Amino acid sequence: MLQEVLKHIEPRQHFVLTSHARPDGDAIGSALACGQVLRSLGKEAQVVMHDPVPRIYQRLPFADRVVHSKRVKGDYEAAIILECDSIQRTRLDGLEHRFLISIDHHVSGRPFAHVNWIDPQAVATGEMVYRLAREAGVKITPEIATCVYTALLTDTGSFMYEGTNEHTFALARELVLAGADPAHCARNIYFAHSTAKMRLLGAALSNLHREGALAWISVTQEQMEHCGAKEEDCEGLVNYALAIQDVQAAIFFRELPDSRYRVSLRSKGQLNVASVAEHFGGGGHECASGCSLEGPLPVAVARVMAQLLLESSSVQ
Ligand code: 5GP
Repeated sequence: MLQEVLKHIEPRQHFVLTSHARPDGDAIGSALACGQVLRSLGKEAQVVMHDPVPRIYQRLPFADRVVHSKRVKGDYEAAIILECDSIQRTRLDGLEHRFLISIDHHVSGRPFAHVNWIDPQAVATGEMVYRLAREAGVKITPEIATCVYTALLTDTGSFMYEGTNEHTFALARELVLAGADPAHCARNIYFAHSTAKMRLLGAALSNLHREGALAWISVTQEQMEHCGAKEEDCEGLVNYALAIQDVQAAIFFRELPDSRYRVSLRSKGQLNVASVAEHFGGGGHECASGCSLEGPLPVAVARVMAQLLLESSSVQ
């Protein structure tokens, strides 16, 4: 499939790249890296995202060139969609009638594009971009290495999630040799939060619930406003509930402005949270997934908990 992707890149000149809305480290890192790989091949590449680059990724190389827009305009010959399983999840208009190339590593990845390179064995989409660069003979500059390293670091939960193996570290080694600075990357990601986010974390943890091997936390719109928090400040809060000993899966519920709930699920490996999210129309990985549900909160909680309990009974 990698060859197929290259075959479709080669004859084209103008590319637009994007990823899912509310981009995480792999979405941003892989899109920025891929854009630069294309430029190294003499192509023109523009990264367009529905949401602004989150503050912890704003210092990444080329992040200042990202266009923040609701619509893709322009005569691009192809759109490369990274880390994303549908046009809808980009939340961008104007992609529908374009030639689409999808590069994704989700288990729940769907072949929605004209060319679909989906590899669930890759720990991050950034890893696939790195392979693409190598195959195309592109030199891995410190800038590309930094973007791919950030994708790798964040999508493996700082090399802690299931699936992290010797190949992950071998790739990390290559990226560091190519100029990625691990301490610098980590500082920008893990020690650069807003005060509002830490206040929101306090609010979420003061609402911590535990039921056997499951734990959940939630935040309301009102709490977010009170803390001055933005959507991106919710990123990663679920991990604090997962950090409890003997908790196998954690859930984070965020009230949306339309009073639906955005749900983030995380697992330590025993429970497959991708199948739980898929049950509600979402998706993701076995250890990290997400979906949206109707409120009110107690109903949303009961539905997700019931599905998780069903999942846990099937593994016992
Ligand atoms: P998060 O909880 O950080 O929003 O998402 C965790 C993982 O699940 C990410 O890999 C993300 O791409 C995936 N994910 C989250 N929400 C959805 C969704 O609504 N649909 C699909 N297909 N994947 C999702």
